[in-house]
Amino acid sequence: MLEKYVSAGHILFEAQQFAKKILEPNANLFECAEKIEEFIIKKGAKPAFPTNLSLNENAAHQTPDWNDKTILKESDVLKVDIGVHVDGYIADAAFTITYAEEHKKLVKAAELALENAFALLEKNPTIGEIGATIEKTISEQGFKVVQNLTGHGLARYLQHTSPSIPNIAKQDSRVFEEGNAYAIEPFASTGDGYVREAGKANIFAIEEQRSVRNAYARKILEFVQENYKTLPFAERWLVRELKLSGFALKVGLKQLLHEKCIRAYPILHDRAGSFVAQAENSFIKTKEGIITLVKPRA
Ligand code: MN
Ligand code: MN
Repeated sequence: MLEKYVSAGHILFEAQQFAKKILEPNANLFECAEKIEEFIIKKGAKPAFPTNLSLNENAAHQTPDWNDKTILKESDVLKVDIGVHVDGYIADAAFTITYAEEHKKLVKAAELALENAFALLEKNPTIGEIGATIEKTISEQGFKVVQNLTGHGLARYLQHTSPSIPNIAKQDSRVFEEGNAYAIEPFASTGDGYVREAGKANIFAIEEQRSVRNAYARKILEFVQENYKTLPFAERWLVRELKLSGFALKVGLKQLLHEKCIRAYPILHDRAGSFVAQAENSFIKTKEGIITLVKPRA
């Protein structure tokens, strides 16, 4: 298990280096997301969820549509959140890209909060103390911490398990447990520090396994169960892999949502015109101490 987590972390680190190279101004975000995921597969692992490329006020859960033409601008603040799994063992990490001088301080604030949280891990902190450190760091840098986004536990084929790891000071005296993996992910914002769901979703996951009558819905469900299990998937993955028409896909997904076989992950955004930065890494707690997962091979 440990070996698989560590391997997922190394491959994710390499995918991040690759992502930094290709996500240049004028890059097509659809092509970049697909290339990053292809890179992970070539390394012998699998994406644990669709590469999130969330722009500006969008904090999370934005992944390119199958017909997306969005181009990265120099003035953008882009969160690159990548997941890699090896046999279901997930590493989850994110960084933020900006080419604009005016946004660099925001990006640094999120990075510094993550750094401080990981430094504190060495002292066996409570979950509440991690939140307090993150909130303090981001406030001191002059930004709002996004209060309703959190880190989380990681489990086999489950990207989000308890506990939630707050980004704000909270009364939570639990400590991290040996043998468990976790992700910490602070978000700094120039907006309200509070995200809401947008109307649109391109990311889905199976909610409950049950039979469906609609032929398109059944085809999608069988494919997802076989290939992604309980992990999130993107509409564009289905377009590529299932060779269904755009119409058939829309009908099938709508039916699956209606019957609550799948759930949607809408884009989470702060106030229009604001900017959000994210930094994330995963770790596993062992008897010997904390092992940071996303880092270069020794
Ligand atoms: Mn993530
Ligand atoms: Mn995460």
